[in-house]
Amino acid sequence: MSSPVTPSSNDELFDRARALMPGGVNSPVRAFGSVGGTPKFMVSAKGPYITDSEGRDYVDLVCSWGPALVGHSHPDVLAAVHAAVDNGLSFGASTPAEAELAQLVMDRVPAVKRLRMVSTGTEATMTAIRLARGYTGRNLVIKFAGCYHGHLDGLLASAGSGLATLALPGSAGVTAATAAETLVLPYNDVAAVEKAFAEHGSDIAAVITEAAPANMGVVTPDEGFNAALSRITASHGALLILDEVLTGFRTGPAGYWGLTGGAADAAERWTPDLFTFGKVIGGGMPVAALGGRADVMDYLAPLGPVYQAGTLSGNPIAMAAGVATLKAATAEVYATVDARSAELSAAVSAELDKAGVDHSIQRAGSLFSVAFGTSATGVHNYEQAQAQEAFRYRPFFHSMLDSGVYLPPSVFEAWFLSGAHDDAAMDRIYAALPAAAKAAAQA
Ligand code: PMP
Repeated sequence: MSSPVTPSSNDELFDRARALMPGGVNSPVRAFGSVGGTPKFMVSAKGPYITDSEGRDYVDLVCSWGPALVGHSHPDVLAAVHAAVDNGLSFGASTPAEAELAQLVMDRVPAVKRLRMVSTGTEATMTAIRLARGYTGRNLVIKFAGCYHGHLDGLLASAGSGLATLALPGSAGVTAATAAETLVLPYNDVAAVEKAFAEHGSDIAAVITEAAPANMGVVTPDEGFNAALSRITASHGALLILDEVLTGFRTGPAGYWGLTGGAADAAERWTPDLFTFGKVIGGGMPVAALGGRADVMDYLAPLGPVYQAGTLSGNPIAMAAGVATLKAATAEVYATVDARSAELSAAVSAELDKAGVDHSIQRAGSLFSVAFGTSATGVHNYEQAQAQEAFRYRPFFHSMLDSGVYLPPSVFEAWFLSGAHDDAAMDRIYAALPAAAKAAAQA
């Protein structure tokens, strides 16, 4: 039986949720696991703001963990979704919008020759791994410590994101046999990759890597790291899977690859065999995709022997949101996000300096995060990310929250901006920073 009275306070909402769902949440990263306190229940969002159930608004630096690149409730996106809804919610058959979204992706990322739509980033990476195994006839997969690729069994070891937040080394429920098929290597360590290939080269199906890691905080790939992965995989007949679920269409029109290996002025041009996308591609609706080389992608059913399917894949409402979001993500939006990111990270750094808080700003394109107590070395891998003074983030986060700024509730997550973060929104963040920096200093 449903509760007769709808709770109205945040605490009541959390109490009810906790009685009904594990931890009161449907995704652990929402649980305020490392910052403490009661997670906020949100009811609406517009532009750069998000509003909780008690009517308080916050400048949103989570942006739904990435998708809201053009700002919440963008009028073009809402109009497209409303129009699509009027035609019916799901047909279980092909629709014109699927090809429209695929074409928009390929216009931006020309290395994608075929695309398959799925509903979550996890599905995209899971399918990419299966496809790589099917295509190469090999079993082993290399991943890097601190990279998160979703919650598929084989990639949960040293997985960053919520596992880093909750200090979990991996997940119970993953069989030893499955775990044994993943080799976990330190990030930014080309020698470790070469060694793994020297020992197991003929058994390695793929290397999967975040285009730029953003689930152990942000980590910049060292100059030449991704290019080396491309070279090494190619020379051993393995595939490189570039996970752009988080960075794709966010760090630029063609994601992080577009800023690096795919850039016209790249020092060394390189191309992954497969990409995975999510988040921005659906603009807030459940859309993700994998794409890449035609000969590899055509190994998927119905053409090939690798099976993958989805009742709601390519859902028409979700496709409409994705198409409208990518169309709304103009050069101007990227310029705004880049500029705001540069301004904001500089302001955060200046306030922390003023308060005497040792830190480094970790950056990959417009994505950034703050790592406390790491100025001597910066953060280049998971070991360094975990060694930081993470305890300083808790008071920093709550001070910002009290001042009306909603940061990611974990030091291991990136800060997300949107094209809708205008002067008024930024000013609220800047006004909040001095007290937060002081709180971090006192931790
Ligand atoms: N890959 C990366 C790089 C991600 O950041 C995420 C989610 N944060 C995923 C995959 C998984 O996506 P989803 O949560 O949609 O399953």
